[in-house]
Amino acid sequence: MRVAMIGTGYVGLVSGACFSNFGHHVVCVDKDESKIARLNRGEIPIFEPGLDALVADNVKAGRLSFTTDLKSAVPDAEAVFIAVGTPSRRGDGFADLTYVWEAAAEIADALKGYTVIVTKSTVPVSTCSKVEAIIRERNPAAEFDVASNPEFLREGSAIEDFQRPDRVVVGTESERARNVMRALYRPLFLNDKTPFVFTTREASELIKYASNAFLAMKITFINEMADLCERAGADIQDVARGIGLDGRIGSKFLNAGPGYGGSCFPKDTLALVRQASEFGVPSRIIESVIDVNANRKKRMADKIIDAFGGVKGKTVAILGVTFKPNTDDMRDSPSLDIIPALQQAGATVRAFDPEGMAEAEKLLPGVKWTQNGYEAMTGADGVAILTEWNEFRALDFARTKALLKRPLMVDLRNIYTPREMLEAGFEYHSVGRTAVKPENK
Ligand code: NAD
Repeated sequence: MRVAMIGTGYVGLVSGACFSNFGHHVVCVDKDESKIARLNRGEIPIFEPGLDALVADNVKAGRLSFTTDLKSAVPDAEAVFIAVGTPSRRGDGFADLTYVWEAAAEIADALKGYTVIVTKSTVPVSTCSKVEAIIRERNPAAEFDVASNPEFLREGSAIEDFQRPDRVVVGTESERARNVMRALYRPLFLNDKTPFVFTTREASELIKYASNAFLAMKITFINEMADLCERAGADIQDVARGIGLDGRIGSKFLNAGPGYGGSCFPKDTLALVRQASEFGVPSRIIESVIDVNANRKKRMADKIIDAFGGVKGKTVAILGVTFKPNTDDMRDSPSLDIIPALQQAGATVRAFDPEGMAEAEKLLPGVKWTQNGYEAMTGADGVAILTEWNEFRALDFARTKALLKRPLMVDLRNIYTPREMLEAGFEYHSVGRTAVKPENK
């Protein structure tokens, strides 16, 4: 099949590369000329494990190409995906659909023959109907259906998630469009292991927001439990394991930490609340989740400050600034709240992140960026781990101790155990577990 993917960001590029790997011919379109120029030179504009090889293979096989010219990509395509950004609208938290409307209008002008237009971006309920209305108005003769096909991939494991998803959700009432979607996802459809949820467009649109809101709630819940554990002298890891083994609860997304961030949960929880309020429906649970999470990020800065006994005039080494490991995505990362709060309290911040620094430099002024984690810790008064990159999981404790002025670690991702850190001679503060100090050993 021939596919046009409008928007070549984290979702569009991965989806386009994976569809081409399924054997389809995919043209990825982006209006960002520098992004397309880089892709045409064989460079991958984002960090996503395995993506460079997947793109290179499929470009070489002649199934994957990149252009800024939407009008040349759409006419031949049987399916046109909209995978543009839907950020939070400034001020009110509604999903900003400007890019979606623009893409719909451009697609309308270029349609030729029966085409399924698929919204892969995360969009509020009824967006498909509005996309349909825009296209119908601009091009009344066009033969098309609009379907919803939300994307559930996670940055950092995006290719695996796309190729082996928990489910594929397709919202359309058109049998013709359903057949196009079945053909597109044929390798997954055939292997019988992937459940397909065929539903209405409205349900499909809501499934995506409800999924993200639920996951954000699960994280926020375990974070509150972590606070209780710290006070009560219980270990959150044990509590999480104990509740996660209950099949009704499940063990995933029960890692206590600095609060959720990233390109999806913060904006999607806000957008869900706004949608519900437009329909006059209360969404008090998700409102609380948003509120609790926002406070948490601030409190994590205080946790570091308290552990250091104040940071005025002190140097804090930070390991990891992306919202999670294996991505360079800095959108809504907890570090964007925590680091400025430390600086405001008088700290000098030395930081290292394996992939996020190019973007982080633009967002976090005044930080001294280093070549590696050990350089960040050199001469610092202590270290705080904000992102659980693998390379921070096996620090050389003797070297770490020798570099720091004081053997002090604040681990907001619980990648070490209090016992091993105590044995290594560190004062160690983590999340949802009692802090340990060598003198109390
Ligand atoms: P992104 O910002 O990385 O990429 C969006 C791209 O669309 C940009 O490169 C932009 O230049 C391009 N674009 C905007 N308007 C265009 C137009 N008219 N024509 C061509 N290109 C255009 O965004 P993303 O992270 O890939 O997210 C895209 C959508 O997918 C969002 O709705 C997001 O919520 C959703 N989503 C994201 C993830 C994730 O992990 N990032 C996961 C699931 C769903």
